[in-house]
Amino acid sequence: MASVASPLLRRNPKIWLPSNYLFSFNQKLFLSATPEIQRRSIDKILIANRGEIACRVMRTAKRLGMRTVAIFSDADKGSLHAKSADEALHIGPPAARLSYLNASAIIQAAIKTGAQAIHPGYGFLSESAEFAELCENAGLIFIGPPASAIRDMGDKSASKRIMGAAGVPLVPGYHGDQQEVDLLKAEADKIGYPVMIKPTHGGGGKGMRIVQSEDEFIESLLGAQREAAASFGVNTVLVEKYISRPRHIEVQVFGDKLGSVIHLNERDCSVQRRHQKIIEEAPAPNITDKFRSELGEAAVSAAKAVNYYNAGTVEFIVDTLTDQFYFMEMNTRLQVEHPVTEMIVGQDLVEWQIRVANGEPLPLIQSEVPLNGHAFEARIYAENVPKGFLPAAGFLHHYNPFPCSPTVRVETGVEVGDSVSVHYDPMIAKLVVWGQTRNAALVKLRDCLSDFQVAGVPTNINFLQRLSSHEAFEKGQVETHFIEHFKGDLLLDASALVEEEAYQAAKLGATLVAACICKMEQIKSKEAYDGKDKLLHLWYAYPPFRVNHSPRRAMELEWQSEITDLGPKHLKLVVTYETDGNYCVKTEDSDNKSPGVKVSVLHLGHLDFRVSLDGLSTSVSLALYSKDGSKHMHIWHNQQHHHFMQSVRSVQSIEEGSQHKQSFDKSHTVPQGTVVAPMAGLVVKVLVSDGSRVEHGQPVLVMEAMKMEA
Ligand code: ADP
Repeated sequence: MASVASPLLRRNPKIWLPSNYLFSFNQKLFLSATPEIQRRSIDKILIANRGEIACRVMRTAKRLGMRTVAIFSDADKGSLHAKSADEALHIGPPAARLSYLNASAIIQAAIKTGAQAIHPGYGFLSESAEFAELCENAGLIFIGPPASAIRDMGDKSASKRIMGAAGVPLVPGYHGDQQEVDLLKAEADKIGYPVMIKPTHGGGGKGMRIVQSEDEFIESLLGAQREAAASFGVNTVLVEKYISRPRHIEVQVFGDKLGSVIHLNERDCSVQRRHQKIIEEAPAPNITDKFRSELGEAAVSAAKAVNYYNAGTVEFIVDTLTDQFYFMEMNTRLQVEHPVTEMIVGQDLVEWQIRVANGEPLPLIQSEVPLNGHAFEARIYAENVPKGFLPAAGFLHHYNPFPCSPTVRVETGVEVGDSVSVHYDPMIAKLVVWGQTRNAALVKLRDCLSDFQVAGVPTNINFLQRLSSHEAFEKGQVETHFIEHFKGDLLLDASALVEEEAYQAAKLGATLVAACICKMEQIKSKEAYDGKDKLLHLWYAYPPFRVNHSPRRAMELEWQSEITDLGPKHLKLVVTYETDGNYCVKTEDSDNKSPGVKVSVLHLGHLDFRVSLDGLSTSVSLALYSKDGSKHMHIWHNQQHHHFMQSVRSVQSIEEGSQHKQSFDKSHTVPQGTVVAPMAGLVVKVLVSDGSRVEHGQPVLVMEAMKMEA
């Protein structure tokens, strides 16, 4: 297997394990040799998580020569993380509280399999002080910070008081225990509007309220308290100045059990939707070295104030109008976006976590921490962007992520044929790229996104492409309202250009499908068809495409846009096979023939093509499948991805001289009175009984989908 040293590491001979830190072209990031863990007390690790982070932690543990134990719920049987471990234990039903959050079952699993340590990943039990304590009480090493630090940082008000005392800058506000309405209102008046009300035990942006003026305060407070009580079981809140043009910049910190704490530079995570990050980068663009070192020092002070060890992140909010930064909160775990830091410092942070948990000192002192080049991470989600980024679920009919290289990492927990389930976070993968400069990294990010192929569930890939191509993003003018601010450009682009591109892609796709069928009919050998070819047959119904009769084939397609809420566009295309071996496509309602498309390479085993088009040879990939009574065609070509549907009910096939209309199944219509949810999810509460009368707008049930409640 070809492996090459990462260029960023070659430039840094002084950093930890430089000669071992290798990347392979075969999807994985790993070290070539296995440096021994000193005074090793850990040789088997249980990973109390799932998906990409479980796979990523296992990769490092294996490289360090450790055995790995995965846990999996019923929903994750046969999943990549379970398959990747040396041992995998079934832990419970799909609901997280009965599986990945079941602390005692997880501890039993570790004891049963002889694991000495538990890595919690992120989410689930990673920030549970009780779980950290339970592990230690059971004689297991918790690969994370001390329970006391998790507890101190778990309460937003208490953590702000500790930080204030340690001299870390705080957003002006009230973080006290007194919660009387009049007192909170007086504090808000003192701060000056607009203010922000936040649940003290909150997370995920839930329960937060922006209050623009004095007369809105009480109503907003009561709303925030209600939501906090329902979501977190405690209704206490804090009030602080609302920063109207903020950036979210966070600092990666690391401490060891011997009392050293350092930082590994910052990440900018300002680009968010629903208060959740989607693109992160390191280092933060457009900040001075002075600002960077002040942030770093403040983060180290914050970590020291709670006797921190292991990996942590100190989040700051930066007021872009005044260039002031303020402590927001500390996340006491490895973050989703830790790879961007790994790329610029050339270190494996999971390895650091394991070594620190094992009692070893930090491998670097502050002055040895490098900062090389620039890295981006884009989170690829199964979600419906035009419907307000609603989480999506479904079967992955096609999954072909961009291949890894020294400067591209794909962190994923799924494979083709897996399902994105309604039970967990719908993130499919993290795409991480590195470049010598921000611009070089950005160009790479766009390239990789345009060739990152997912079909079967809607994704945010096209949206991420648009976002990363936006002029303001290119200039690094990021802030937390970026998506809201530029949504006109990012979401609703229904320009003629997009339609024209889709039209051209449809023509090309139709030609390729016709060419495949033509080829299959020439071969006429059943053995020549593998699974994909059968699928192709299914996708494109008969009658046969007869080569010697100048055949024609008509297709009626709907163009599905994954970024705009444009209604489906109907396209009618006729593909003709010409005697010179070319295929021509024309739209049924015009004589406007497309130039001949010569399909020069055609492997029936897969649907990747090289085609000659206007004298240019380009690559094209197709994915074809049937779903919910429709046939789907995805096409990746010319840095674009387009999705077309062919309804089984409306398809028509035309042969030279005669026209066959096929009759199709009409059973897919939805019965009258059916309520169709805008996203896949679980019904957690039904609020009405059978036969009751409901008013317009009355809530009838509560559905939960991943991180959303609707
Ligand atoms: P949570 O823990 O619920 O995610 P945070 O305190 O981390 O809440 O805040 C989430 C996001 O809300 C931040 O990334 C930022 O975009 C926004 N935010 C938080 N505090 C403020 C503030 N004082 N002014 C403006 N925006 C804020």
